[in-house]
Amino acid sequence: MKSDSYRPSVVIVGANFGGLTAATRLPKSFHVTVVDPAPYFEFLPNIHELVSGLKTPEQLRFSREKIVTRAGHRFIQEAVTKMLPAQKRLLTHSGTWLPYDYCILSFGGQDNTAIVKGAEKHALPFKSIRQCHAIFQRLEALTKTKKKISVVIAGGGFEGIEALGEILRKYRETKGIHIHVVEKQNRLMADAPADIDGEIRRLCADFPVTFHTGAAITRIWKHSIDLYGLSGKHKIPSHLTIWTGGAIPPAILYESGLTRGPNQWMNVDQTLQHSVYPNIFAAGDIAGLPDPLQKQAYHALDMGKTAAENIIRLHKGKPPTPFKPSAKPMLVAFGDMDAFLIDKRMVVAGPSLGLLKEAVFQYVMTLLDPSGAVFKAVHASTRVAESAFNIISTYPISFSSLTALGKIRIIK
Ligand SMILES: Cc1cc2nc3c(=O)[nH]c(=O)nc-3n(C[C@H](O)[C@H](O)[C@H](O)COP(=O)(O)OP(=O)(O)OC[C@H]3O[C@@H](n4cnc5c(N)ncnc54)[C@H](O)[C@@H]3O)c2cc1C
Repeated sequence: MKSDSYRPSVVIVGANFGGLTAATRLPKSFHVTVVDPAPYFEFLPNIHELVSGLKTPEQLRFSREKIVTRAGHRFIQEAVTKMLPAQKRLLTHSGTWLPYDYCILSFGGQDNTAIVKGAEKHALPFKSIRQCHAIFQRLEALTKTKKKISVVIAGGGFEGIEALGEILRKYRETKGIHIHVVEKQNRLMADAPADIDGEIRRLCADFPVTFHTGAAITRIWKHSIDLYGLSGKHKIPSHLTIWTGGAIPPAILYESGLTRGPNQWMNVDQTLQHSVYPNIFAAGDIAGLPDPLQKQAYHALDMGKTAAENIIRLHKGKPPTPFKPSAKPMLVAFGDMDAFLIDKRMVVAGPSLGLLKEAVFQYVMTLLDPSGAVFKAVHASTRVAESAFNIISTYPISFSSLTALGKIRIIK
């Protein structure tokens, strides 16, 4: 254990769900530096609502510097470009070396656009506020200038389905629009434990949507895509291709010797410590736990808290405690038409469940930035948001508390 006067240094890389939570949990008695190339925290679980213009970029973000400074720490707006774990230091883009006693890595995943030729150049990814706002602007421009519009959503997982829901919210009555959803697996949202595929197809039956499941995009061009499916090869015109394919581990992990091979998440034990460098912690999507978890914001928030607490414990000479993943359900919105709550025990649906997703957004934004614009805007409804948030934070979720929100259907 170090002497009381020693102020251990902690560097946190990435300041979104995992990193920002860790920063706010570490006291000023630690010398904390938070590094992220982007100025704003982004509430990614609701970025689909930018696509329809339901939310604006300002509603989904706030200044990282403000939150980090308020916690008594330092924010550096730069990317980390190199890590030397054995030497306990890392390098920022401008060439500054940051030494540390402890480090929390929380830089999420990176786009996997490299897997299909043309995706990087011609598709718009769906992973940040800037990208989703660009999709909104492109859709607005297309619907104002073109008579026939073909939109392709690459990926029929939960991101692709949320994108589709938002496009239908705003443009389902727009003449001449057609939306294609392409999914490699044989059904939509194949990771969900129930047949949500059938529900989505039923909801879309009256709208200009074609689903291409069991089909892969082999090439993306400026105005079309090449598709290979059961019926062979064909071309689909596309004025806008939205890329919702998943994320891959950041290359810097392997380059820095933190993983054994390329394309691996950082192996950590249940205390979130790296297996070889126990002063390095993972918080959020970057963590490769012994029992892999879904890459979800609520796990990232909880891991940020555990990583910070474990650093405090280690500094006091106490053993670190294991991270215990909470059993929160997954909420998937489908525009204004439906929403799904996916839990281990049940899958239920109903437009009123969209309220829960909004409640989570308002509650978490308020928690992270209590003085922020979102807080002011929703102040009157904060109690409603809190009680709705409590419904999904209580495990097991009570079915009757869900029916109190409105009509719901049991899918599984
Ligand atoms: C469209 C979409 C919808 C989603 N919906 C849901 C949902 O409904 N519910 C849910 O729980 N989860 C949802 N998720 C998942 C959730 O957003 C992630 O699990 C969560 O963002 C992970 O948090 P994180 O802190 O690990 O990483 P991120 O939020 O990805 O943050 C990583 C940060 O690291 C920074 N960074 C990257 N590289 C560097 C570098 N070299 N140096 C310094 N900083 C760096 C980035 O700028 C970023 O700020 C969704 C994700 C997406 C994309």
